[in-house]
Amino acid sequence: MIEATAVETSTDWDLFSKLGKYDHEQILVCNDNTTGLKAIIAVHNTILGPGLGGTRMWNYKSEQEAIRDVLRLSRGMTYKAAISGLNLGGAKAVIIGDADKQKSEALMRRFGKFVNNLGGKYITAEDVGTTTQDMEYVNMETDYVVGLPVSRGGGGDPSPLTAYGVYMGMKASAKKQFGTDNLSGKKVGVMGVGKVGMHLVELLSKENAEVYVSDINEANLEEASKTYGAKVVEDIVSIEQDIFAPCALGGILNDENIAKLKCAVIAGAANNQLDKESVHGPLLKEKGIAYAPDFLINAGGLINVYEEWNGYNRENAMHDTERIYQTTLDIYSYAEAHDMHTQAAATKLAEERLSLMRHVQSRI
Ligand code: NAD
Repeated sequence: MIEATAVETSTDWDLFSKLGKYDHEQILVCNDNTTGLKAIIAVHNTILGPGLGGTRMWNYKSEQEAIRDVLRLSRGMTYKAAISGLNLGGAKAVIIGDADKQKSEALMRRFGKFVNNLGGKYITAEDVGTTTQDMEYVNMETDYVVGLPVSRGGGGDPSPLTAYGVYMGMKASAKKQFGTDNLSGKKVGVMGVGKVGMHLVELLSKENAEVYVSDINEANLEEASKTYGAKVVEDIVSIEQDIFAPCALGGILNDENIAKLKCAVIAGAANNQLDKESVHGPLLKEKGIAYAPDFLINAGGLINVYEEWNGYNRENAMHDTERIYQTTLDIYSYAEAHDMHTQAAATKLAEERLSLMRHVQSRI
């Protein structure tokens, strides 16, 4: 089994060995001199359906860094869709450049033409550095786009659904650790009160959890404390808490932080929370901390855009996101039965679904 969120750090590599190692199907390198577009679309796997994943615009330091990112992210999308029970494959796009300075209508529309050329193998959406407005431009050139504004029949900002899914995964984890999924009175630390973290704080405060928050953005902290009564702390990793919810950065579960943690559950939105899956997954297990796999419980946003692809209905999106609760419980049971850490269990279950569906599709 290869770690679903493994990050390649070697500088000595060639493209086809990378595509082969992680079993990518295709990449499309897109260039347009007039608009300045330099983009890479990676389709990792289409066994379950068309590859869906956002377009990230980022000022990558090198082409290699951009390629590494798009390969890693597209592969992660395959696992996220598979474990969430969606009929979607994994794909992702990156545009190389400064989103504040280099993005334009023409650039996004030219990108939309490249997406269209893939004939539906790839469906794009917004991501870091792109917005619903950008997706409207893309939509002028292709129908293979989701994440459109509500006014255009889309699902709008996916963050509330992402937060709702995290909340479901957190409740399931509480059930596993405390025997009840009632979060009333539970001490929950939310690291990062941005788009997802703030919605999570709202849900937690409605359930009368005791909420602690940290952020580097003062305005966000003020909103969390004034609107929802959350208590601001400096070092949220170290406080005694029942549940820790990382909603800011990846790699937060590393040697140093795990040594400081005093919690029974970790359930948050941030992508790639485990610094090194094969080291820090087992370490959390050893410490008896229930870790809700990030790529499962932060899938609410993906579920939201999947709904949009099938004709948007908010209630269906909420209902499907609620399934994260049961899937999280199933993963805890599977991990226990097979003496695995939970991230490995989730990866294994995603791979099993992919393998079974490959079999189903090969039948007539
Ligand atoms: P965001 O940028 O809106 O919020 C992130 C917040 O974290 C910001 O308020 C930022 O100031 C804060 N932050 C940054 N560094 C910090 C630090 N060292 N300590 C404390 N706070 C810090 O992003 P978001 O959309 O809320 O996403 C949060 C995480 O969830 C990211 O890892 C993202 O990849 C992941 N995620 C988001 C979605 C979604 O629908 N938005 C879906 C899946 C996964």
